[in-house]
Amino acid sequence: MFMQRLARDGIDRFWNSLTLGVARRELDEGQKGELRAQQLRALVGLSPVLMAANIFNAVVIDALFWNSSFRLFLVVWTSALVLSVATWGDRWRRSRMGGARRRASVRGVRVITFSAFLFGVVWAMPMLAMFSDADAAQRVLLVGCEIGMICGGALALGAVWQAAFVFALTVQAPVVFVLCSAGDRLYFGLAALSLSFSLLIGRVVRERSGAFAEHFVSSLRLRDSGQVISLLLREFEENSNDWLFEVDASGRLTRASERHARLFGRSRETLRGAAAIELLAEMSREDAAAAGPALRALKRAFRRRLPFREILLPVRVNGERRWWSLRGNPVLREDGAFAGFRGVGADVTQAKRSEESIDRMASYDGLTGLPNRNLLAERLERRLEQQAKGGDGFALLSLDLDRFKHVNDTLGHQTGDALLIEVANRIRGELGAEDVVARFGGDEFVVLQAHAADAAEPRALAQRLVQRLGAPYEVAGQRILVGASIGVALAPADGKRADELLRNSDLALYRAKMDGKGRFSLFAAEMDAAMQQRRLMEIDLRDAIENQRLEVHFQPLIDMTTGQISACEALVRWNHPVRGAISPSQFIPLAEETGLIAPLGEFVLRVACREAASWKRDLRIAVNLSVVQFRSGLLVESVAAALADAGLRADRLELEVTESILIEDRDEALKTLTALRGLGVRISLDDFGTGYSSLSYLSSFPFDKIKIDQSFVRDVANRSDAAAIIKAISALASTLGMSTTAEGVEEADELEWLRANGCSEAQGFLFSKAVPARDLKLLLGLGDPVETKPARIDAA
Ligand code: C2E
Ligand code: CA
Ligand code: CA
Repeated sequence: MFMQRLARDGIDRFWNSLTLGVARRELDEGQKGELRAQQLRALVGLSPVLMAANIFNAVVIDALFWNSSFRLFLVVWTSALVLSVATWGDRWRRSRMGGARRRASVRGVRVITFSAFLFGVVWAMPMLAMFSDADAAQRVLLVGCEIGMICGGALALGAVWQAAFVFALTVQAPVVFVLCSAGDRLYFGLAALSLSFSLLIGRVVRERSGAFAEHFVSSLRLRDSGQVISLLLREFEENSNDWLFEVDASGRLTRASERHARLFGRSRETLRGAAAIELLAEMSREDAAAAGPALRALKRAFRRRLPFREILLPVRVNGERRWWSLRGNPVLREDGAFAGFRGVGADVTQAKRSEESIDRMASYDGLTGLPNRNLLAERLERRLEQQAKGGDGFALLSLDLDRFKHVNDTLGHQTGDALLIEVANRIRGELGAEDVVARFGGDEFVVLQAHAADAAEPRALAQRLVQRLGAPYEVAGQRILVGASIGVALAPADGKRADELLRNSDLALYRAKMDGKGRFSLFAAEMDAAMQQRRLMEIDLRDAIENQRLEVHFQPLIDMTTGQISACEALVRWNHPVRGAISPSQFIPLAEETGLIAPLGEFVLRVACREAASWKRDLRIAVNLSVVQFRSGLLVESVAAALADAGLRADRLELEVTESILIEDRDEALKTLTALRGLGVRISLDDFGTGYSSLSYLSSFPFDKIKIDQSFVRDVANRSDAAAIIKAISALASTLGMSTTAEGVEEADELEWLRANGCSEAQGFLFSKAVPARDLKLLLGLGDPVETKPARIDAA
């Protein structure tokens, strides 16, 4: 059973095997069929030679053995051989007539092998039939002929190794058998010789069949990759913005597809053979200035036969302007001769357009179309350079609309925008050809007056502008009145640098506004120094807020009974790049006057809430609110948003307000306070005891906490009235259910006194000044309980 199966397997393998000893690659059935067909074709291709060799050998044998004893055999044998050759020849003819079959089955191999076997039998016959009766010379001839047949036949059949093997074996076996049975040492040697030839031939056949298959496999691979490349190319042409081009050595287009025709806006016939560079020159004639350098670069590359990259060319296709980017490489023939260029073109119109619009955006104001700050700065620099080389003077006019905010607030942004466009037109109308006006944002404009020998010309221009801009506007069916204020700085008298000039014209503008708006003012060196300072500080503060350069520090509040930190107050810090730390008592009032308090307050609120949300302990966070923030009408939403964004519980937030909010618009303030309380936040009354201090305020709104101003605390030890007031406040507060916090506690005995007189919380340098967030985290970890061991952290 086992042996049977083994034999069957062996036979199967014998027929199915395509090669011997070749590094086997997995071929699929179809590919195996193809390989078989090629093997058979190679073999059949040799048929004429094979047939001729057969006939020739037969003739030689017939001639040399033609005598009475062999005649009959020779007739039969020669007939058998002719029959075999004829059958083979017929097969060969048919295969040539029927054209090459792409694939061949295992059966094809079997049929060929069987034919080889028949030939083998025919060639084995002379040896068997004639050897014993032949003389010595005939015997040598016979053996030589047989060995020649074995070798030649096996080689010729080598493409199908099964055929070669069967043929060689069929001839070889009787040769060896007959020689060995002759019983002579000489014949033994001959048998051994013939065997060794056969082995050698076997080895060659094996090599050849391997090489044959290798060749097939590699051509298969080549074909695969060829298919992949053409697939990729087609895909490339179909799906990308890019296209391929090819010109010959004389610079003429060699290929023109439908796609090329579409791209060039010309028919395929005109394209094929067209001189490429001339064609491009013609297509870009209308943009000659931009196309010139690109065309020259192309010509140069072509002349020198050098590769070119990303040459950007504007062309017109069906009247539309498009941008092409071209790159290419010279093509050399195998003998090294120049054969033209091959390359890729890409339509980059879209990218180019966005680039242009980005450029525009970087230099122009979107609303009015006027140059923006960047472009003006550029022009200003250029004008300064000219002037430094001895050019004449010029002037810078900073211009700001009066009451523009009011228009925006009451009539809406759209009307505001329309008004700004009209303003821009009016300004332009008053300027000389070389003057430039830029919009700096909002309702700020800056005019660069190109020539001004002295103050007379800018003065006249400023006068005209004030008048012209002050005249009523007709916008969207509305009659609108706004005025303009202008500040003038002269170059070089008021500055030799751009920033200096801008700053000084701005200061002059500020002066004009202070003096009552709707007027202009020239910069003067002796302009009120304090005003300058303020104005400069405002500019810097705006900048610091916009660039988030303000910081928030935190000062702990200590619970008197536990000695633990119960809350922290957020205090804003500004470290000016030149002037160093500036006190909030200086810049908060400035921020309130200029409206900057809104973004500033929002910033502190958000930072504080976020920070508090990150603490491991449930401490409250106190944030100061300015009275101006109450006026905006947006406070409640902004607080709610800050809490939500930080993920902070509302009852952990304490908002500190001063009595002043109750003085200005009491009802409105109370409404806002109630709404804030509705969010769940706590409200503290800050700085109690300063200014208007009246105990009546305490009953007007149920504050959660009263913070006693540090001026009282300071005097507690030596002023009896201060002590009396603190006692009274604490008593009142506790009856109303409010807590009291003493601010500015610096000494331990102050703390003792305050505790004894009913204060519930203390805050001051005795514990800590306001510190950055990360120091506070340290303090929260280390500083408790503070009462036994006050943690004084640099009471500067
Ligand atoms: P305030 O709300 O009364 O803040 C307490 C001030 O007293 C802080 O001054 C604090 O550093 C200081 N201070 C605390 N303990 C002591 C002490 O033991 N001794 C002394 N001498 N001073 C102490 P700061 O930070 O300079 O703030 C000044 C004022 O600026 C604040 O007074 C507050 O009205 C305002 N402010 C600070 N940050 C903000 C803010 O983010 N928004 C608003 N609207 N105002 C703020
Ligand atoms: Ca405060
Ligand atoms: Ca205070």
